[in-house]
Amino acid sequence: MQMSRFVVAYPDVRPGEHVLYSVLDDRYVGVDDLTLAAVARWTAGAAPSADEAETQQILLDDGFLVPDRGGDDARLRAHLEAASEGIPGTLYVTLMPTLQCNLACSYCFQKENPAFTKMSSPTEDATLEWILRQIDARALRHLKVHYFGGEPTTRKDYCVRTARMLSASMAARGGTFDWQMTTNGVLLDLPFAKAMEEFGKGTFKVTLDGDKETHDRERVYRDGRGSFDVIFDNVVALATAGSKVRVGGNFFPDQAKSFESLLDRLEKSGVAHKLQGIRFKPIVDTQRLGSGSCTSCSGSEETATLVQLNKSIERRKLAPPVLAGEMLESMLGPCELHWKNNYTIDPEGHVYKCPAVAGLSDLAVTHVARSGAEKIAPLVELRPWEQCGDCAYMPVCVGGCLGGQYLKTHRLDQVACKKDLFEQSFHEAVVRRYLAEFSEEPVRTEAA
Ligand code: SF4
Ligand code: SF4
Repeated sequence: MQMSRFVVAYPDVRPGEHVLYSVLDDRYVGVDDLTLAAVARWTAGAAPSADEAETQQILLDDGFLVPDRGGDDARLRAHLEAASEGIPGTLYVTLMPTLQCNLACSYCFQKENPAFTKMSSPTEDATLEWILRQIDARALRHLKVHYFGGEPTTRKDYCVRTARMLSASMAARGGTFDWQMTTNGVLLDLPFAKAMEEFGKGTFKVTLDGDKETHDRERVYRDGRGSFDVIFDNVVALATAGSKVRVGGNFFPDQAKSFESLLDRLEKSGVAHKLQGIRFKPIVDTQRLGSGSCTSCSGSEETATLVQLNKSIERRKLAPPVLAGEMLESMLGPCELHWKNNYTIDPEGHVYKCPAVAGLSDLAVTHVARSGAEKIAPLVELRPWEQCGDCAYMPVCVGGCLGGQYLKTHRLDQVACKKDLFEQSFHEAVVRRYLAEFSEEPVRTEAA
């Protein structure tokens, strides 16, 4: 009998009270000193005493203990198989009408070598046919399209046309269509938003990288002008008119103050509580950062900034709360690279499993004009996560953002380890959830 390798212990959440958390099952349990010591003894090979047998059985039934290593291996395989379903019954397609962008952000991999490719009309037709073929072949009822770029609003015609066609095609099949759009927000206007919303529920995710001063340093037009004012005004106009808008932002570790100012300004504008969410994340900077690997986990500063900003968003009650709920949820991967029904299609019709590598046709798994089996995604072919050993976070991480890692290192055999981020964020979120649920009485061995 041994503790599952996917269980982490948070000692002394209250005096003499400890929490065991199963990353694999997203489940926690409170134990006292005696139980924690007994778990250590059982893991070392000791048999339970008569008094301990019931406790051991409960922990075994709830997956905190496993009979042996093979038990954990089997559970991990089953978990990853279930996770590969992605969004149940849904084909999730990231669609790139163009690689062209009307900004030249300082941390963007396109900054030095801007791309101009746009999807041609024949490729657009082949793309729509390919999507619907997948829907039919897999008997899926839902289609979710994520418009991405380049900047999708430089091709508003494409977005409206494809949304109209896909919405009608899904309705004819008795299914549903919805969409989201990641946009820099510069060209976002109400008529376009309303046109898209006619064809399905949708959300715009707009990037604001801190307050005006910081944002205008990072997110600039090609002539160097900042873009904050126009984007902020568009966000306010759309959110006020009832469109669904999320604000995202990318920060460097020393920019917490600037992001706090952005939150102040959103609150003052009156739209902060009308937004669908606010989520900041550390920048994946292909220009400035070196490579990371499992043995060189770094980024403790950015983790601290992330935790601080998420706390601020929660304190301000900006919906929805992110720290214990959404943030943890967003970490309960694995990411869509590992989903069976997830694809990204670039403007030339190449099909990928990860948006980060779109445009790099060597990493495509097929092409919209091709029939027959797709090839295994090069990003997962070498199974880089096998080097992660007994990491407790394997069920939600599986080697991290392998697409982002490839962009930084051009290697397919490295993981992108953010173990320190997992450790800190899970600790914080799980203990909060536990204490909120069990506010008074010490809990012994009852599973949550
Ligand atoms: S590998 Fe990274 S960029 Fe690609 S789908 Fe996963 S998290 Fe997203
Ligand atoms: S599973 Fe993720 S967190 Fe764990 S060692 Fe591998 S890359 Fe790092």
